[in-house]
Amino acid sequence: MSLLVVGSVAFDSVKTPFGQADDVLGGSATYFSTSASYFTDVRLVAVVGDDFPDKHIDFLKSKKIDVAGLERTTGKTFRWKGQYSFDLNEAQTLETHLNVFQSFKPKLPESYKSSEVVFLANIDPDLQREVVGQVNAPKLVAADTMNFWISGKRDSLIKTLKHVDILFINDAEARQLTGKANLVKAAREIVSYGPKTIVIKRGEYGVLLFHGTSVFSAPAYPLEDVFDPTGAGDTFAGGFMGYLTWAGDFSEATLRRATVVGSVMASFNVEAFSLERIKALEDREIKHRYKEFKRMSHFEDLG
Ligand code: AMP
Repeated sequence: MSLLVVGSVAFDSVKTPFGQADDVLGGSATYFSTSASYFTDVRLVAVVGDDFPDKHIDFLKSKKIDVAGLERTTGKTFRWKGQYSFDLNEAQTLETHLNVFQSFKPKLPESYKSSEVVFLANIDPDLQREVVGQVNAPKLVAADTMNFWISGKRDSLIKTLKHVDILFINDAEARQLTGKANLVKAAREIVSYGPKTIVIKRGEYGVLLFHGTSVFSAPAYPLEDVFDPTGAGDTFAGGFMGYLTWAGDFSEATLRRATVVGSVMASFNVEAFSLERIKALEDREIKHRYKEFKRMSHFEDLG
């Protein structure tokens, strides 16, 4: 199966208690596709400005990411500026400049229209719908979003969710979207908007997967040095969706493994700024950390 993603490709400026990085490669679709590329072929839909250097496009190509749908136009690339306090769980957005995304009218290359799995990464929900509407017969549609769109374009987001099977969202955003403080109630409310499966990301406390009547809980990897959480959510979703696409089935057992694969990929990403840690991972590192997750979460019957 093939995996298509639409989302932001960005320049990020990030400050954490441990350092600072300016105008580095970021964006929801960049993190997602890099992470997913370890498991499957990825087709990218996004727009960048004429200030976007070839070296970043060459990097995406080096990960075998299909960039036929990455438009380059006159203007400035999307820019995001954020900071984190000692509680690294929540980013504080300082600046969002949509720039070339403001007038982006995505037109899918013919070769993308047969994609079976679609991921609507964090971007304007109008764009998310425009892209999914151009795919012929998607078997699975997943999406992510953030506070910026929940407060700025709620009605459009709710419309997008009608087309979505799996929603990735963090705990604060789930509460903001539904008005429910309790995450179990929030997940149930989101199911009434369309998605059947809800993945609630809880930063250093791990992930909750709600699927039908079952709930699965995965921890976050207890890292001693978390450097920069930017992109953790997108990297999680990339590992999750990349693995799911590779596995080719959407059973509960596969969804659970995908949740752990996503957690593994996110755990690497937070070890460095930008994509520095996930740009050149080795398969054995991914498999080794997956085993560590299994060992860390395993327990015996009470007897
Ligand atoms: P996360 O995985 O939630 O940490 O996502 C961080 C990435 O999201 C950064 O690389 C930003 O460039 C990107 N981003 C931040 N705000 C927005 C937005 N409003 N729309 C799309 N992408 C965004």
